[in-house]
Order: sequence, then C-alpha cells, then structure tokens
Amino acid sequence: MSNTERTYIMVKPDGVQRGLVGEIIQRFERRGFKMIALKMVWPTTELLEKHYADLKNRPFFPNLIKYMASGPVVAIVLEGRDAVATGRVMLGETDPLKSAPGTIRGDLCLQVGRNICHGSDSVQNAEKEIALWFPEGIVKYTLATENWIFE
Ligand code: UDP
Ligand code: MG
Repeated sequence: MSNTERTYIMVKPDGVQRGLVGEIIQRFERRGFKMIALKMVWPTTELLEKHYADLKNRPFFPNLIKYMASGPVVAIVLEGRDAVATGRVMLGETDPLKSAPGTIRGDLCLQVGRNICHGSDSVQNAEKEIALWFPEGIVKYTLATENWIFE
C-alpha cells in the first residue's frame, strides 16, 4: 500500500483527566489506522521542551510546558495511509473554536490552551517525535484487517 506513514499522536493531560483517551483512540482505530505503540507517561519538562523545541520563543511556551507537565499523557504511534496529514485533519485546528464539528478538537474542547490532543505536522517531525517518545522502539505485527481496509 502506498503513502504508508507513521504519525505521533498524544492525548494531553486534559484529555486523560477528562476521560477522553478511549474516544480519541477509537476514532483512529475505526478510521483504519494501525496502532503500533501505546503508553502512559508523565512527561518531564526536559522531554516536553525537546518535543516543543520549535515553539521555544513563543509567548505561550512557558504555559504550554506547564500544562503538558501537569499530568500523565497517552503516547501513541499510528501507521496507515497518509497518517500525518489525515491525523491532522481528524484533530482539527490548533484553536478548537476554529475546528469543524466532526474533528476531535471541534467536538471535544473549547480552548487552545486545553486542546486535548497532539498530532505530528510533518513526516519529518513525526519521525523525530516517535524517536523522542519511544526510544525503546515499536512493536511489529500484521493487522489482520488490512485487506479489508485497503484494496
Ligand atoms: N498553543 C497555545 N496558544 C497558542 C498556540 C498554541 O497554547 O496560541 C498550544 C496548543 O496547546 C497547541 C500547542 O501549543 O496545541 C502547540 O502549538 P502548535 O502551533 O504546534 O499547534 P498544534 O500542532 O498542536 O495544532
Ligand atoms: Mg504542532
């Protein structure tokens, strides 16, 4: 199957506290993505500063790190067709108020500083984020439904 990509998806601390982990994972599973890594982690500020290194000079950066370090997150790697761009579409816009209904942010949250879920914005960043959050590596297995999802 062409265009197979991996993306890094993360349920943020507010998503975990609000009991939305299952809902978020379910949306990606039902779409047909293959989950190849999953764990709960309470991230250190050091890890988060690496993850969000591109945003270091933005005014919201200190609050973003505080928010993301405020509780455990659920780290997920998904594989599938156009996983990076499709993951972003399913997430919605960064600002939940600008996110269409039907998207994760458009359905489940209201404020940019509490937008419940992260998704990689490019294949290159996805590779970087997967290496950062899963240095132990990723499970390899065949998804039995693959021939029912792709022709
Ligand atoms: N963020 C914020 N205020 C802003 C922009 C971003 O608090 O004005 C937070 C928000 O949680 C966002 C995260 O910083 O998800 C990372 O920002 P980015 O621009 O990478 O948005 P994303 O890729 O998550 O849509
Ligand atoms: Mg981003």
